[in-house]
Amino acid sequence: MIDKIIALLEELLAYFKAQKEIIPCGKSDEPRHPDYRWEETNNFSYRNGVKITGIVLHIMEGTYEGTISWFKNRDSRVSAHYCISKNGDLCMMVLPANKAWHAYGHNNNTIGIEIEGKGEDELTELQEKKLVELCTYLMHEYGIPAKNITGHRFTAKNRGRTECPANLFGQRSEKALRDWVWRKLG
Ligand SMILES: [Zn+2]
Repeated sequence: MIDKIIALLEELLAYFKAQKEIIPCGKSDEPRHPDYRWEETNNFSYRNGVKITGIVLHIMEGTYEGTISWFKNRDSRVSAHYCISKNGDLCMMVLPANKAWHAYGHNNNTIGIEIEGKGEDELTELQEKKLVELCTYLMHEYGIPAKNITGHRFTAKNRGRTECPANLFGQRSEKALRDWVWRKLG
């Protein structure tokens, strides 16, 4: 009898341990950036214990509200953890503990930030301020070094596949983005 109870308890313990791996969107008490709007999306999956090691920056190639609604659309199969508007508004859509679908081949261990802009747009002043604030917070929270902050098109598996984040950092070159990172976050 006792053996059966112990076996049952062990089973229960294993069950709860497994549950701990799964963090439902919006229902975690993990620390978050303090000043944000939350928009729920189902376009995310679980990191399965993979550690966060980097940040990938993106340009929306569209508007803030349009991108948020696209990320909420199940059919789009894309998302990001954060969106930043031209006015510096911040929206969170996926918890960093979960995996957003923003950069092919690099979603397991990165946080994705989508920045409003299109064509030849560069960061606005308010946008830059919010982006620096958010990256500083994430670097501190997850121990991410400045060298692991990059643009979508500079990630190993996306070279030649996209122009993102285009001209947001002054020029399209990797050097321009790296220089910006070192200047603001290094
Ligand atoms: Zn991108």
